[in-house]
Amino acid sequence: MLANALSASVVGVDGIPVRVEVDVSFGLPGLTIVGLPGSAVLEARERVRSALRNSGFEVPARRITVNLAPADLPKEGTGHDLAMAAAILVASNQLETEELGRTALIGELALDGSLRRVPGAMALVSAATAAGMREVIVPAENGPEGAAVRGAIVRPATSFGEVVRHLAGRERLAVLAPRDHPTGAANCDDAPDLASVIGQRAARRALEIAVAGRHNIAFSGPPGVGKTLLARAAATLLPALDEAEAAEVSRIHSVAGLAEGPIGWRRPFRAPHHTISTQALVGGGPHVRPGEASLAHHGALFLDETLQFRADALDALRGPIDSGTVHIARVDRVVALPASFMLLLAYNPCPCGWWAVDGRECSCEDGARRRYQARLSGPMRDRLDLIVHLEPVTMSVAAEAESTAVVAARIERAWGRQVERQGLPNAGLPVAQLDARHGFAVATDGVLETRGRQMGLTLRRVHRAARVARTIADLEGSEMVEAHHLDEALLHRPKALAA
Ligand SMILES: [Zn+2]
Repeated sequence: MLANALSASVVGVDGIPVRVEVDVSFGLPGLTIVGLPGSAVLEARERVRSALRNSGFEVPARRITVNLAPADLPKEGTGHDLAMAAAILVASNQLETEELGRTALIGELALDGSLRRVPGAMALVSAATAAGMREVIVPAENGPEGAAVRGAIVRPATSFGEVVRHLAGRERLAVLAPRDHPTGAANCDDAPDLASVIGQRAARRALEIAVAGRHNIAFSGPPGVGKTLLARAAATLLPALDEAEAAEVSRIHSVAGLAEGPIGWRRPFRAPHHTISTQALVGGGPHVRPGEASLAHHGALFLDETLQFRADALDALRGPIDSGTVHIARVDRVVALPASFMLLLAYNPCPCGWWAVDGRECSCEDGARRRYQARLSGPMRDRLDLIVHLEPVTMSVAAEAESTAVVAARIERAWGRQVERQGLPNAGLPVAQLDARHGFAVATDGVLETRGRQMGLTLRRVHRAARVARTIADLEGSEMVEAHHLDEALLHRPKALAA
């Protein structure tokens, strides 16, 4: 007899519905799984057999064929176990139910028949509901993630026995209340307040501009001047996510197995250690997992001690910086992972840290210093919008500093203007939109061109400066981009390294 159940698989950070077809027929007893199963899916044979037995059911002494469709989609993970086990019961007449036509089944089975959490529950539940399933049964631990999917009716379960009793109509599983508003622990409670940063007016201003328009910024300077503190303060300066963004971020974190439930409205702030591998930074691996670049999607990626990172890891970020997407080539396809983030860098200008600092001597050899500085390649420097060199603070210039709340309010207003005008941050403005509709008068263009020529800037650099100037105007509440906005933008432009 034939039976069908619906499950789902994760590809990249997206869920794809998978139909589990089971045929139980006369023939040599055995369980065969076809349809490009990955190794974890093959091991499902043993898990499903044991779980059936230990839940008090029979493994039919027949030929059992499980087909996972569509056949051309490589299926990874263990989330199909539950659907397979239930369909086997139906196909072998041990369970009578109409539910499999409207309920998707997602979950890994333990040998004793209990249900185990699977990564990517949000993506899986979305895929199931998009495929027309009204309800989805998930492992209890995945409940909060699943219930964050709009419009899904999610029933968490702890064991295969519970699921069977539900499908048979004997004992219904409770529906988890939908979680429309993502709540949960913010991932940056330890972010410092800007009020704790002493002095550094220029750097604070540059940070405000960068966060307001989502521009890439680097802080360079000797140890102990507050580079890291400033960069970390960005975590709480970023405006809240909107609903669609929050759902997307939650989905990515769910696929990475990081989210216990929907993440909050707070933008991600990721700060990987400099020993991180290229794969962990941009994503990849045999099962294509999102890397830090994707976990920072819609938020910020902070690379402290930037020049200690592997050069190839840094260069691998160029793709996502340009396109907002990580492309990972596999044998049979290219997987695209969303990775649109604001980049924050902080590094010492040389190995000893005191190069080009007023009144101090750098003790590094020329060659060593040049090699060190070259780790931030030309193309990477070219993708930065602002670079600030911080100097040690003398007590006489240290004054009362604005708090994060005050600065965040200004950023929020500037952000609102960008959304209203163009629906995306200034950093993402296409060149074609640096026009009159976006506040660039002919006179401004002329100024920009002249300055660019005087300073010997590339066209790419000029466009980056124009976008930063747009943000400065937004912070000021000005419709038009004026010459003084351009001048301030050019003040913090990355300059060629003088060695
Ligand atoms: Zn030095």
